[in-house]
Amino acid sequence: MSWRADILTLFPAMFPGPLGHSLAGRALARGIWSLAATDMRNFGLGRHRAVDDTPFGGGAGMVLRPDVVDAAIAHVMPAADERPLIFLTPRGAPLTQKRVRALAAGPGAVLVCGRFEGIDQRVIEARRGEEISIGDYILSGGELSALVLLDAVIRLLPGVMGEEASAVEESFSGALLEYPHYTRPALWEGRPVPEVLTQGNHAAIAAWRRAQAAAVTHARRPDLYACHIASGAAAP
Ligand code: SAH
Repeated sequence: MSWRADILTLFPAMFPGPLGHSLAGRALARGIWSLAATDMRNFGLGRHRAVDDTPFGGGAGMVLRPDVVDAAIAHVMPAADERPLIFLTPRGAPLTQKRVRALAAGPGAVLVCGRFEGIDQRVIEARRGEEISIGDYILSGGELSALVLLDAVIRLLPGVMGEEASAVEESFSGALLEYPHYTRPALWEGRPVPEVLTQGNHAAIAAWRRAQAAAVTHARRPDLYACHIASGAAAP
């Protein structure tokens, strides 16, 4: 069974978009995952297929109606569907690699993309949706957030990445950011690559990379570094 994503959106033409290319695109063509984008406008009300209305309590903008969003969810999610229902919203829990790994281990996901001011909170509660944010900034719609989440998940599906090892070593799998990378030429515009990397001493290379990872994490992400030390790693 392939990993299955259903997207509810007002802009279905945005999918698969970038996920139709490269790693994710090849995996899509090979059937490792599949995607269906459903236009919530199909469930809109009246002659104009209205999907939104003005906010109770006043304020700017429009809010997606709970009855419309609920009808769209019911259409793509039969009662026995075990996939998590995810609403992309800046109010959600921040997306983490841990959640990404758990999603990749499951059967798929149903992703609801907000627009305008967002979605009526009652449908999120009634459907017991999970609210996820991709970062502390405001996008104009949930579509890019859904693409980001899917990209992170799809590359972890079995058979998608050539070298499974590359997923194990990278940032966030452990608590530290990754060490820096270098390739040919060995000397570029007067800048040599770090000497240890050219000498073939694998233990020395591993030690250098660990030290680099600790240093960059300490400098750029004191929050991650503190977790790393708290989890029992020795301070350098
Ligand atoms: N009024 C809202 C912002 C709405 S932005 C607020 O101030 O919180 C419109 C839609 O874009 C949202 O419904 C959501 O689906 C999407 N969106 C915007 N920023 C996002 C983020 N950081 N993470 C996930 N989705 C986001």
